[in-house]
Amino acid sequence: MKKTQLRTTRILLSQIATTLTAGVIALAPGALSAQAAAFGPSNPFYAPSSLPFQAPPFDKIKDSDYQPAIEAGIARNIQEIQAIADNPAAPTFGNTIVAMEKSGQLIARVMGVFNGVTGANMDDELQKVQDAEAPRLAALQDAIYLNAKLFQRVSKVYEERHTLHLSPEGLRLVEYDYQEFVLAGAKLSDADKATLKKLNEEEANLTTDFISKLLAATKNGAYATQDNSALAGLSDAQMAAAALAAKGRKVPGWVLPLQNTTQQPELRSLTDRATRKAIFDDSWNRAEHGDANDTRATIARLAQLRAQKAKLIGYPNYAAWKLADQMAKDPQTALKFMDALVPAATAKAAGEGRDIQALIDAQKGGFTLQPWDWNFYSEQVRKAKYDLDEDQVRPYFELNNVLHNGVFYAAHELYGLTFKRRTDIPVYNPDVQVYEVIDADGKPLALWYCDYFKRDNKNGGAWMDEFVGQSRLLGTLPVIYNVANFAKPAPGEPALISFDDVTTMFHEFGHGLHGMFADTEYPSLSGTSVPRDFVEFPSQFNEHWASYPAVVNHYAKNWKTGAPMPSELSAKLRKAATFNQGYELTEILAAAELDMQWHTLSPDAPLQNPDTFEVAALERTHLWLTAVPTRYRSSYFMHIWGNGYAAGYYSYLWCEMLDDDAFQWFLDHGGMTRANGDRFRRMVLANGNTKDLAKMYADWLGAEPAIGPMLKARGLAPETAK
Ligand SMILES: [Zn+2]
Repeated sequence: MKKTQLRTTRILLSQIATTLTAGVIALAPGALSAQAAAFGPSNPFYAPSSLPFQAPPFDKIKDSDYQPAIEAGIARNIQEIQAIADNPAAPTFGNTIVAMEKSGQLIARVMGVFNGVTGANMDDELQKVQDAEAPRLAALQDAIYLNAKLFQRVSKVYEERHTLHLSPEGLRLVEYDYQEFVLAGAKLSDADKATLKKLNEEEANLTTDFISKLLAATKNGAYATQDNSALAGLSDAQMAAAALAAKGRKVPGWVLPLQNTTQQPELRSLTDRATRKAIFDDSWNRAEHGDANDTRATIARLAQLRAQKAKLIGYPNYAAWKLADQMAKDPQTALKFMDALVPAATAKAAGEGRDIQALIDAQKGGFTLQPWDWNFYSEQVRKAKYDLDEDQVRPYFELNNVLHNGVFYAAHELYGLTFKRRTDIPVYNPDVQVYEVIDADGKPLALWYCDYFKRDNKNGGAWMDEFVGQSRLLGTLPVIYNVANFAKPAPGEPALISFDDVTTMFHEFGHGLHGMFADTEYPSLSGTSVPRDFVEFPSQFNEHWASYPAVVNHYAKNWKTGAPMPSELSAKLRKAATFNQGYELTEILAAAELDMQWHTLSPDAPLQNPDTFEVAALERTHLWLTAVPTRYRSSYFMHIWGNGYAAGYYSYLWCEMLDDDAFQWFLDHGGMTRANGDRFRRMVLANGNTKDLAKMYADWLGAEPAIGPMLKARGLAPETAK
């Protein structure tokens, strides 16, 4: 699992909130803010860009251009939506559904660029604009989804949809729009809408409480000591960091701050078992001390409140509501999928545990393996059997070579794409490179930007997004960007990156291909505008080519000598992917099960005691294991209580099933060929969300997705692979 994210940008009706938000600003049609009133033809966002592919005119855009354009864009979108709702003519597909697709072009144009620069090239002025506009953008969502007249029109078209002779994509769009309105609560009575709004406000407050309590609890949970012998085993760099952390907190000695996971990185190297146990306990109990930072009461109420919201909308539980528009469609499907992984994962983890116990015994440890020992001993196994010397590997991964002879090469072999550097297209920072992507038939396909090097004003991690999305209706081709945080070399030095970075390049480019191959009429259904449990599939699928022998042989060459990577080194790279995977899959499964168990609670269930609930949930799913604890305990599970991943944590594993399964199909059908690539492009990547995703996938594969290839890829139970 890469630390990557996909950020959605477009402010289009069907892509925004699926809950009624408590907008604090009332937006009325016709009321123009001073900023919006100042918006005129001199603003670079006033009209679509005249550059190739409507690329953003970064040479003309000033920081001060964004706010007037955003506010004018919001005002115009409100007017457009109101005009559709107020149309005296009877609702039709064209005057309602298509009209909505055509609305919001100004706000989409500016937000595509604004999100790009605020994520990768932030400054104080942009930060101010972002803070000021966030509530207005939330209010825009309300103005659309709370518009009862608009929903009436959408409903009418929905009821008549089978008599309208729509294209398959048009039919999908009607059903999709209708579902998004319903999921947002459009069918509720005014009284129920008021109840939902109250629950939303309470949820927002509880979420804020959870985040601030957890932040404080995590800070307070740091391990501190003045006895440096307790820290034996840490490297000089780790000791220096611990001393710096202590200094930052104005305490003597050393401090090891907690990370958000149960396991802590220092547990790999600390030789003192008592220290390891102390740090583990600090982590495990961080938010359960019965003090002001204890999160248990907060999460118990959050779980209950979410179930109550789901009941209002008409679903038996929160997960059922949230999965209705996902590929899995219902929690039963996600639970069945996870349950099927449990035996192989826990059996493998048990085997890894036995190996570690044998190592403890051989070293005359005289104790039984506990979670705080796991990483310390597995690290010894890793070093003996799997260790990759980064310095040995990096000379084979020079960034530009990886890009051209790896990433681009695989895209050429699979899909026939070629790439032309465009130095004439303006960029927002000199580190950014732009390429025109040319299709196999010689036609322009897309514009692709990469911004790979770390900067202080860039968000962490790596992501893909688009400045312009593809739509035949709007006549736009995709303008896509990839951002990462690789170390920038000194001037004149080559950028030698790790294999992890190489994988990140393939991953983000996989999202990029999903966007570039988009071939749809309606912007709402285009490209990467797909549910969370599908969106990481194309990117993770593309990662496989990073270690595919024919691709490796083409790009993994010593930057100085051009010599290919020795085969034992590339074999080690592949083998490392199966290290400790029983443990890793089990801890993720435990977290994913916890998420789903909390969010399948019945709305009528009493307030839960998180302690007993957690143990019971893990026992029920056979994941309550002494030596393999959940990756996140309920009381510090930020993803589901604070970060919008509620009932969605399974999607990491779900997409992994899809990508391994899809790659296995390629291997079974001749590997990296144009025929395979073109078929995958046509039947999967080009379709965005225009089809039922489960059916689309099964049509392409000729079967339902299966977990065998995923277990094989992780080195678990290869005999079960199909
Ligand atoms: Zn991703």
